[in-house]
Amino acid sequence: PNADSTRGKLLSVYEKAEHFYHHVLVNTKAGEAAYQYLLDRGMTEESIDTFKIGFSPPQREALKMYLENEGLSEAEILKKTGLFSDRDDDTFYDRFTNRILFPIKDDKGHTVAFSGRAFMDNEDGQIRTAKYMNSPETELFNKRRVLFNYDKARPVIRREGEVLLFEGFMDVISAWQAGVRNGLATMGTSLTEEQVHTLDKVTDHVVIAYDGDSAGLDAIKRATDFITNETHFSIEIAAFPEKMDPDDFIQKKGAEAFKDFLAHGRDTLMSFLMKYHKKEVNLNNESDRLKYIDTVLNELTRVTSAVEREMYLNQLAETFDLSTESLKEQMHGHIIENQ
Ligand code: ATP
Ligand code: MN
Ligand code: MN
Ligand code: MN
Repeated sequence: PNADSTRGKLLSVYEKAEHFYHHVLVNTKAGEAAYQYLLDRGMTEESIDTFKIGFSPPQREALKMYLENEGLSEAEILKKTGLFSDRDDDTFYDRFTNRILFPIKDDKGHTVAFSGRAFMDNEDGQIRTAKYMNSPETELFNKRRVLFNYDKARPVIRREGEVLLFEGFMDVISAWQAGVRNGLATMGTSLTEEQVHTLDKVTDHVVIAYDGDSAGLDAIKRATDFITNETHFSIEIAAFPEKMDPDDFIQKKGAEAFKDFLAHGRDTLMSFLMKYHKKEVNLNNESDRLKYIDTVLNELTRVTSAVEREMYLNQLAETFDLSTESLKEQMHGHIIENQ
């Protein structure tokens, strides 16, 4: 982009801001506790450098002063960056203070936003504000479009023939450290049409690796519904056990166990859905059992492979002691309904 255009100027400010925050984290006293916190969580110095993780110091005009020194002080531009709190006067107070900052990049690797994780050096270690906070939307940043780590992961996604979708930045980075480098995350929102469109250009195989808690399982269900409505992607699910998120899993069980789980612990879409719908019912109750079978047959209409359909029909027939014919007939009823 033209360095004199508004867009060019905004990009320069973001580039400088990233440099500043990273420097504060790695080289200054103000960033020491946050740096140690990241190391204690298992983030390596190499990752901190690769992802240019930063820290926003508590001094509220630190960024403004730094940018001024760098010759970037045009008030109109600074206001448009979203890096400062919205005030009518001419003060430029940092929007982010005391937060660990994850630079968010566009597909060319230019930093266009930050997400800040609350970090408190409190005695009780409690976070009392929103755990994560994103930059506001600007001319550079549209959170419906951006996927965290897309710039780095794209060639790997192509090579591996699949993309891994995580919930959090920490999951993406831990997986990256473990050698799994085709992982992305959304900006704390559900997957959007724009993001699916971006993925569509590089792959048609998605592995959803969200958190193993109940919110994560519901998010997986929503994401699979959305993806199958929008695309012809094939979907697999890596449902992490024991309420862990992928980062917790890696810290607890190690990189090898993580890779092994991704390679051999995946569920097909149908096996995930068959488990997922069980939590809504009591299978010892006849009425619930009928409801469950009907729900699963409806989900089965999404499966296009004849072999896969037959496999699950047989499985249901066996589990509930029913004939495959009657199951098939009821499934066809749903196919007609859903048309
Ligand atoms: P950590 O391991 O550091 O506690 P996490 O990544 O496991 O964080 P989750 O609570 O599982 O955090 O949230 C997953 C992701 O959702 C975050 O990485 C962030 O992108 C997003 N997120 C969470 N809370 C918010 C929020 N208040 N605003 C915007 N995004 C959020
Ligand atoms: Mn979560
Ligand atoms: Mn999580
Ligand atoms: Mn986590």
